[in-house]
Amino acid sequence: MNLNSPALLEDNLIWQAKTAGKRMVFYGDDTWVRLFPKHFMEYDGTTSFFVSDYTEVDNNVTRHLDGTLKRDDWDILILHYLGLDHIGHISGPHSSLIQPKLLEMDDILEKIHSALISKEADGSLPYLLVLCGDHGMSETGSHGGSSEPEVNTPLVLISPAFKRKGTMIRTPGVVEQVDLTATLALGLGLPISQNNVGHVIPGVFEETTLRDQLRFLHLNGHQLSCLLKDSMSGYDKGGFEQFRVAEKAHGNWMKLYLEGNNSEVLSNIGKKVLKQYLEALAAMSSALSKQLGKYDMYSMIAGMVFVFQVSTFLLLAMPEALSGEAAVDVPVLSSLLSLPFYLLCLLLASVHVLVCTSTESSCYFCSLSWGLVFAAVAFSSAMFCTLVSMTVLMGVQGCPRPRTCGCLQLPCSCWQCHVSLATRWSTYVQVSFFSPCPSLTFLSL
Ligand SMILES: [Zn+2]
Repeated sequence: MNLNSPALLEDNLIWQAKTAGKRMVFYGDDTWVRLFPKHFMEYDGTTSFFVSDYTEVDNNVTRHLDGTLKRDDWDILILHYLGLDHIGHISGPHSSLIQPKLLEMDDILEKIHSALISKEADGSLPYLLVLCGDHGMSETGSHGGSSEPEVNTPLVLISPAFKRKGTMIRTPGVVEQVDLTATLALGLGLPISQNNVGHVIPGVFEETTLRDQLRFLHLNGHQLSCLLKDSMSGYDKGGFEQFRVAEKAHGNWMKLYLEGNNSEVLSNIGKKVLKQYLEALAAMSSALSKQLGKYDMYSMIAGMVFVFQVSTFLLLAMPEALSGEAAVDVPVLSSLLSLPFYLLCLLLASVHVLVCTSTESSCYFCSLSWGLVFAAVAFSSAMFCTLVSMTVLMGVQGCPRPRTCGCLQLPCSCWQCHVSLATRWSTYVQVSFFSPCPSLTFLSL
């Protein structure tokens, strides 16, 4: 369920398809309609809000199927079934509802496949049926984590463009989910989106000519190398360099090919270039994916500490600021002259020097100038000492302006006193219940 999905503005496969004039039809989760509001020539979005519904959400997709499959006025049909995901959320992956749902999905696949086979007979371009899950589910039926059952999903590509393998069932290969974008873009004859980090799935284009295969790999490699150049320092190592070498070899191969050389030697050189390309693409894709999944932990922790310190300071200062005098007594000078302040400065500065020099980190905090960082270190240390002083003053001294009220020596009415004496008051109330004179009990506490 996505509550807020504004239109996707960056370069993406659906936008590329729309720009190339592909006619797209969509039925399913309405998040798609919000992400791509003007991209589909026809759509029917189903809300994913009612997780307990695993029937209507799918029937709303299936009811369009017969009519749409008979028509010829579309190029891409996207169906996003929600039922299986909803069953997972309600009763987990071992629910008795799973099997009937999978059988229902089997029937739908069969229906789509038969319709596509009959279309194929009309002599149109080969179709491609893509069956995939966007995520798996954990033992409790949830998803979003990084456990194996949550991130492992099936991907099936069916097309007459692939070589028939007979009845032989091969062990399925493992591909990255991000590789689907590049593969679909090349398969549909579309430009690969500029921020794509995946590489074409090896084997999908193996039935095309060697020249075409090399062209596809070159297009993908060019896009990945541009992205690598834009987003990483030290990009010219690893896959980038490998790609440059493969590109050069590809150029030489093309020269011989265009000269009409058809020897087996040329074919072998071509296969070698293909291998070089595949290795370079895999290395570049892996470097980009790693960079995407890398969090700047050091800067995140530093930022969280600052936010925590400022919030705590505001909370501690609030009672005094709201009291009649509306003035806050902040023990800054005593904090700056204390030994803990200098020790903390030294400790934090050492941590910073250690973190930013020992690893090849590209974190934001390390990219700041040393002067600015030491100012931040001094500020954070001073804040820490001030906060400790304020807490101690509040807790130990209690109310600076006590007043008497009847037989009870009540603390003053300021918020600070209520906070600092809250624990003592709860004991006082308990004890005074048994004692005739509350003041005696309170004073004895
Ligand atoms: Zn879900």
